[in-house]
Amino acid sequence: MNDKLLKLKNNSLDDDIPIMQDEGLNFLIELIKNKKIKKILEIGTAVGYSAIKMATVSSDIQITTIERDKARYDCARKNIKDFNLNSRINPIFADATELTIDDKYDLIFIDAAKGKNTLFFEKFKNNLNPDGYIVTDNLKFHGCVEKPLEEIESRNVRGLVRKIRNYIEFLKNNKEFETEFFDVGDGISVSRRK
Ligand code: SAM
Repeated sequence: MNDKLLKLKNNSLDDDIPIMQDEGLNFLIELIKNKKIKKILEIGTAVGYSAIKMATVSSDIQITTIERDKARYDCARKNIKDFNLNSRINPIFADATELTIDDKYDLIFIDAAKGKNTLFFEKFKNNLNPDGYIVTDNLKFHGCVEKPLEEIESRNVRGLVRKIRNYIEFLKNNKEFETEFFDVGDGISVSRRK
């Protein structure tokens, strides 16, 4: 990883910004390389770390990324400019649950509110090119998804875990998409149209 990216990663971690874990991000980068993905829609920019990392795979990659938190969006814009990626990464300040996008993408990366994965999947699946992929991160939610609910103290986390489990079932039973689950990073799914 180059020094600038490493600095962005370390600063984000110091500031408690929930960026994607290395293992998961490297998996995503390999998918982008292997499948020659060129157009990406990311739900959940944070400060732009994963978008910048994905953009550095190849100079012909274009990314649209959505963030609803103004401070993070502003920070992402600054970071994207610092990396001279303004022409290839388009950050949008919006709540993705309310935003309509017309464009089509080779990859849709869902990495926002973890309780809304199903909503994001249903909302943006029509923005996927026929051979495209929908990738979702944090399906293990730091090991909580596999735990018995009664072992999870926080009511909020229990609620989130229920929703992530429901999303996993939604993917497993989906008639339109087939999904592979990968035990990398915090748990990743890769979905494709059947
Ligand atoms: N992809 C980023 C990375 O790895 O560098 C990390 C994204 S972080 C896990 C999730 C982000 O999604 C947060 O910054 C949060 O504010 C944003 N978010 C949550 N719900 C959202 C929504 N409905 N619309 C847009 N952004 C949302």
